Order: sequence, then C-alpha cells, then structure tokens
Amino acid sequence: MASPFKLSPDNDPLSAFRSEFVIPTNRQMKATAVASELEDVPCTYLCGNSLGVLPKRSKKLVEEEIEVWATRGVEGHFDHPHDRDWMNIADTVHPVLADLVGASELEVACMGTLTANLNLMMGTFYRPTKERYKILCEARAFPSDQYAMSSQVLAHGLDPADAIIELSPRPGEYTLRTSDILDAIAREGQRIALVLFSGVQYYTGQVFLIEEITRAARAQGCMVGWDLAHAVGNVPLSLHDWDVDFAVWCTYKYLNAGPGSIGAIFVHERWADEPIRAAGWWGHDPTTRFAMPPRFARIRGAQGFQQSNPSVLATVSLLGSLEVFRDAGGIAPLRVRSLRLTRYLEVLLRASRFYVPVEQAASFTGAEGVGVTIITPAEPAERGAQLSLVFLPTGRGVMPRVLKGLAERGVVGDSRKPDVIRLAPCPLYNTWEDVERGVAVLNEVLVIVESEGIQGEV
Ligand SMILES: *Cc1c(COP(=O)(O)O)cnc(C)c1O
Repeated sequence: MASPFKLSPDNDPLSAFRSEFVIPTNRQMKATAVASELEDVPCTYLCGNSLGVLPKRSKKLVEEEIEVWATRGVEGHFDHPHDRDWMNIADTVHPVLADLVGASELEVACMGTLTANLNLMMGTFYRPTKERYKILCEARAFPSDQYAMSSQVLAHGLDPADAIIELSPRPGEYTLRTSDILDAIAREGQRIALVLFSGVQYYTGQVFLIEEITRAARAQGCMVGWDLAHAVGNVPLSLHDWDVDFAVWCTYKYLNAGPGSIGAIFVHERWADEPIRAAGWWGHDPTTRFAMPPRFARIRGAQGFQQSNPSVLATVSLLGSLEVFRDAGGIAPLRVRSLRLTRYLEVLLRASRFYVPVEQAASFTGAEGVGVTIITPAEPAERGAQLSLVFLPTGRGVMPRVLKGLAERGVVGDSRKPDVIRLAPCPLYNTWEDVERGVAVLNEVLVIVESEGIQGEV
C-alpha cells in the first residue's frame, strides 16, 4: 500500500534492527486461525509496551554468564573471561541508561525493581510537613503506584483520602488536559509535598509533558517524581535539564530486558550527597566495600541508593538490548520512526468502517453495530508508540472477543479491562506490514464479532 506515512526501504535504515530480535512465530503463539503458510512466520507482535521481545544479544550474553558461573564460580565477580566482572556489572549499563533518560552517569543506577524503587525514592523524597503533605497524581494511576503512594502516606500517619489528590479527565474526556494539571499545581501547590505522575499513562498512552509539569511544580516548592515504565525507550527524555528530582522505571517494556528484569532510578545531581535512608552494601564506596567496614560511606549520586548486588543475568539481558539501542543511534532517530509507525497505525484505523471519532464514542449505543475509537491523544507530542483502542459499545463484552480473535490470527496486543486494547508498534522491530496486518485483522475480527451480535442487547 502506498502511503505518505510509510517509509520506503531505502529511507528506513532502522528497519534492519528487526533482525536483532527473536519474534515468536504464529504457531508458537498458538495462533490457530492463521493460514497454513503463515504458521511458521513471526507473529504480528504489537505488544512491546507490555513485554518487549527477546534481543538476540541478550540471549547470547545470558548464556555466556551461565557458562561463566559454571566454569568460574565465585571468581566471576573479580576475574571474568569476558571482562564483565560481576562486581561491576551494573556499570556496563549505566552509560546507555543515562543517555536514554538524558542524565549523567552520576544520576542513574540500575537496581532493584520498579515498585520497590518507587517506595525507596518516596522514602527519601516524600517529606510531608504539617502544611505541605499532599501528593498530586493522576487518577487511575497504575495500581502498584497507587498502593505505593497510599502505603507511604499511611506510614506518615496521614489519611490517603485527604493526602492524595487524584486528577481525573473532564467528564466525557479520556485524557488529562495539561492546563488542568498546571491549574491544580497553581491552586494547591503550597500544600503539595510531591507531584508524582507517570511519563506515559499506561491505560490511555498519554504522554505527560514532563518539562512543563516539573517546572510548574518546582516553582511551588514541590518535589517532582516520575514513573517512566512506559516512557523509557519510547519517547525522548531530558531528566537532568528538566530538573526532575527523581524517576524510576522498569526495563522489560520498551527496553526489552525480559520478564521481571532489573529496574533503574534517576536522582538529580542536586541530591548527589543526600543521606541514604535505606542503605545497603552496594551503595557503599566500592573501593572499601570488600574491606567490610562497619560504617556506611555512600557513593555520590544515584548509585548510593543501590542496596544489594544486582542480578547479573537480568543486568546482561538489559545490556544486550541497550547495545541495540546504542547501535540504532539512541532514542532520537527511533522516535522519528516511531512517530511515523504510530501515525500510520492511526491513519489505517481511522479509515476502518468501524472507526468512531472519540467525541462520538459516549453516544454509541450498539444499535449501530460495533465500533472502535482511539483514546490516546492525536497530538504526536502527547503520545508514544502506543495507541489505546476502546471497543464499542463499552461494557458489553466486545473487547475480550476482539482480543481473542486477534490472538487466534497472530496479532498480539494486550488488554486492559473493561474495554481497552493497547497496540504499540515498536520502532526497533516492528514493520509497516505489521501495522497493515494488525489493522486488516482487526477489521476482519470486527466483522465477525458484529455478525455474531452484541451481548446484553435488549
Ligand atoms: C509496568 C508498570 C509497573 C510494574 O511494576 P513492577 O514493580 O515492575 O512489577 C508499575 N507501574 C507502572 C506505571 C507500570 O507501567
């Protein structure tokens, strides 16, 4: 299909990076309804927002470490055949991580897992006082973040219902207006201890404008933290220049480091000497760490927050993926390809006979048949790779039937109850054909779902 949004192979050098990944086949994904000639070709994987696919380099590095473990045992910590002493393994990933989030190496640490790190960061940076104790966040934040916030508030003897201000979209709208966030900061700022948002909202795919929100909040004297689970490796970030206080993220979504892989933090340089409230030996000065001194002497910067020796297998799995990011030229060129892929997905969806403009979604009754709308902002600066689709009529079981139909045909997205399917073409490994096939199969499935009728109809 000729389209102004689609790059020709000559103009699409990043398309070569697909060969760096292992993409499951339709057969492996149990896509039972694909034509027989498609059974052993890669599935249409549009789910890198949830779990990125396996980089071949990660597989090789993990296998190497298993072998080093088998053949060197404990010596691998200090004398490693591939010059990756386990003692310093996290240092192998810090340069590219710093690059991806717009930070210096002093400001990042590869450690722990996202939610544990979020609790840890709040332990240092959420400092409620009598006058200033609130947390400003988005309504319907990822549940883990909600649990972390309310447990931190409770630990200070405060009531989450009073201390946590959740901002909701306006009635009839799906995403927050930046102006509403800035108004809330202006109105409540003097009572807010911490502003904590996600960089990309997991449900809607909305990118929050980190720079503007951070500036406004800091001008009111608030601390500002970001959960970048869906932002890192997806959109450009300049955390240092944007003056963010802290950020946390996981590495198994757009960073392709594998299920449950290691997390990471950013702590702005201005906090480089902040006392550590939950110290461990990995945050201690490495030159004396193994002298086992009784007194903790922190590493300056984010790495002072490290508690335990990191999982080597998880860290090299991340390393394999980060090498691919580095070779692709970092996030800037990937973002250019990502914007085009996602725009192409949007254009094809809008051309579907089932497409319903988001403003009309609320009045869609089901008498019209079935429909699909896009709740992710149309403005490119306010979205990453992901588009969140809502299936209509809502609350009538259309979405699970569509998801099943997609999976049977080898189109892998993921769902969020009750009505959303998220599709994300990833610029490192997805193709224009993936986008075309994804939408063609979606249309095919919607025809079937519509002909079978909608549940709960009167
Ligand atoms: C994926 C995700 C998590 C997952 O947390 P883990 O601690 O890695 O299990 C948390 N918060 C957000 C916003 C996420 O997108």
